[in-house]
Amino acid sequence: MLLPNLPAALKTAYRGRFAPSPSGQLHFGSLVAALGSYLQAKSMQGSWQVRIDDLDPPREVAGAAADILQTLMAYGLNWDGEVIYQSKRSQAYEKVLAQLAAQKLCYGCACTRKKIKLQGGLYLGCCRDKQLPFNGNALRINLQNQGKPTCHFYDQLQGELYLNSSEAREDFIIKRKDGLYAYNLAVVVDDIDQGITEVVRGADLLNTTGKQIALYQLLNIPPPKYIHLPVAVTSPGQKLSKQNHALAINKDNPIPTLLRALDFLGHTVTNNVDTTTCSKILEWAIENWCLHKIPAQHEIQI
Ligand code: GLU
Repeated sequence: MLLPNLPAALKTAYRGRFAPSPSGQLHFGSLVAALGSYLQAKSMQGSWQVRIDDLDPPREVAGAAADILQTLMAYGLNWDGEVIYQSKRSQAYEKVLAQLAAQKLCYGCACTRKKIKLQGGLYLGCCRDKQLPFNGNALRINLQNQGKPTCHFYDQLQGELYLNSSEAREDFIIKRKDGLYAYNLAVVVDDIDQGITEVVRGADLLNTTGKQIALYQLLNIPPPKYIHLPVAVTSPGQKLSKQNHALAINKDNPIPTLLRALDFLGHTVTNNVDTTTCSKILEWAIENWCLHKIPAQHEIQI
């Protein structure tokens, strides 16, 4: 077990979360992220929050959010407190946008996706000094003034990770031209407001972490710790997709899939363990949870 000798009182400040997007039902890959973040939080006697990342209505599937919550419950993954919905958090995002604007840490950008693609795919900062209006344009963070691009960070599982430096230097979008808040803005604002101390999620999100840490720095708030779990793939680079309905996990017979997810995370349940209910399995898993047992890989083929 992680930090076995730490007194309980010192562990209580841990706050973790699982933040699925309701773009489909929970699949094996998202169960792994849910389970890993749950076990890490519970092994630290911390709280585990669930947040529905429903920022992008066009990508949302009707009923998916409720189905994800029912699936978590069927697997015994009971969250603490109220579920938070990003769609109800516009005020919080606007407040941070206003703060960034007042400090000239963001700017309006009129570049189309097509133009950026023609320039090689990375935004080169051509609107940075144009003082374009915010209305009707995308908003980009200004990493060139006081901003510090994050080119590497320490991951509690993967170790020191180095990011593509051109990507890390890109002034990324925080509000889209269509008015939708960008994932990198919302995730940082929410994790701050929820008091998240450690983010445990799939390694498919590694590339966003540098941008998020850069945003924490601009807001003058220390970032959480990070653990990026291996992602389940069907072949190299081919992660399981929510859009593939065949991969939705079974709510009626959760035990075999729960055992498979634990096995994926390097915690194979031994024969002497009572596996008659999810809660008994999770009890064992919390007791036996150890970061060093998790494969420190970005992907694992299943
Ligand atoms: N909502 C994101 C997703 O489902 C994950 C957000 C996060 O864990 O930071 O891919």
